[in-house]
Amino acid sequence: MSHEHGENTRALRLPAPPAPVGDPLRIPVHRSTTYAFATSQEYADVLDSGDGYSYARIDTPTAEAFAHAVAALEGHGVDHDVRGQAFASGMAAISTTLLALTGAGAHVVAAVSIYGNTYSLLDGLLRRFGVHTDFVDITDLDAVRATVRPDTALIFTETLSNPTMVVSDLPALAGIAHDAGALLVVDSTFASPAVCRPLALGADLVLHSATKYLGGHSDATGGVVVGRPELVGRVRSARVDLGPCLSPDEAFLLHRGLETLPLRVARQCASASEFAAAVRDHPAVARVDHPSLPDHQGHALAGKLFDADGHGTRYGAVVTVTPHGGRSAGMALADHLHVATIAASLGGTHTLVGHVGSTTHRQMPDAALSEAGIDPAAVRFSIGLEDPADLIADTLAALDQCGTA
Ligand SMILES: *Cc1c(COP(=O)(O)O)cnc(C)c1O
Repeated sequence: MSHEHGENTRALRLPAPPAPVGDPLRIPVHRSTTYAFATSQEYADVLDSGDGYSYARIDTPTAEAFAHAVAALEGHGVDHDVRGQAFASGMAAISTTLLALTGAGAHVVAAVSIYGNTYSLLDGLLRRFGVHTDFVDITDLDAVRATVRPDTALIFTETLSNPTMVVSDLPALAGIAHDAGALLVVDSTFASPAVCRPLALGADLVLHSATKYLGGHSDATGGVVVGRPELVGRVRSARVDLGPCLSPDEAFLLHRGLETLPLRVARQCASASEFAAAVRDHPAVARVDHPSLPDHQGHALAGKLFDADGHGTRYGAVVTVTPHGGRSAGMALADHLHVATIAASLGGTHTLVGHVGSTTHRQMPDAALSEAGIDPAAVRFSIGLEDPADLIADTLAALDQCGTA
């Protein structure tokens, strides 16, 4: 005796959509949090192998597409397999990686100039769990060598540091790490693969806040880790346990951003170099930090490490301008700008500025700032896609006002 389904069941058993003829050019956004199987065995096989999809916290095709794409970009010219894992944010990628690679009693050597939340994670939360971190001047290779111990799990640095754009000597740091049986883990957010590909220079894992240059439009938050399959597999297991998976909607936007990454970053770097050269001779300016300037710590290193494709060195697109006159002069410079916008974050299409001492580094008193090589007057510019002549004219006009304020 056949039984007619009721209206609710019929609404939940709609016919499958027709199979598309032709492949979509853009990646589909798979929002499903769960995946259906014909048999229990099929479901169990997916869980056992890790291939395929069962539950969105574990993997989604859209987040995986983004991670694969970054692995391809960072893995170009690398002589081993490179995999990727996507995360809900840059800090999710960093915290999960550090938790995956350390444990109670582990030792970490980190650059003293690293991103503020990475610093507080290592110096606070992870210390409470028995991970001991020594912070060193990462440009002093003898100091790094002297700080590494037989039980050091990893050296953590950034390709380009915030906000003074210190360049890490990645091949030398990889050598020091590997001699000690440790890993080199690199936050390459400020560089992006359009400036530098650390895996090809000896790094073991590369991390990004995809919120910045990879997405590039200030409209999606995410993170990613790439490296050898075995290491990335360990990070993936920790991610599944901890839970900070990348949402499929964010993954779609971040993936789309990658298509224009080289175009955007090439232009932003060129504008940044032009901008740095144009503002540094203004009488109100005490100092400009950008590796394109011959007297910057990283000028020669950038020339060696940041031109893998032979397009000419890209020196990064963050420029820090320090006016004479201390903290209040820095705040006045930012306030007098009209083309650039006062806002957190970097790496997007708009030029964003921030007075370093009262924003990203506000926890640090002036003395600690000076110790970190940052002047209390420093203003960080993340150069966007505006016409560089407009950015330069706006900044020179603001500096004129600082001089007379
Ligand atoms: C922004 C940033 C992070 C943190 O990324 P979120 O996406 O904000 O979590 C980490 N490292 C660097 C260098 C950054 O600029």
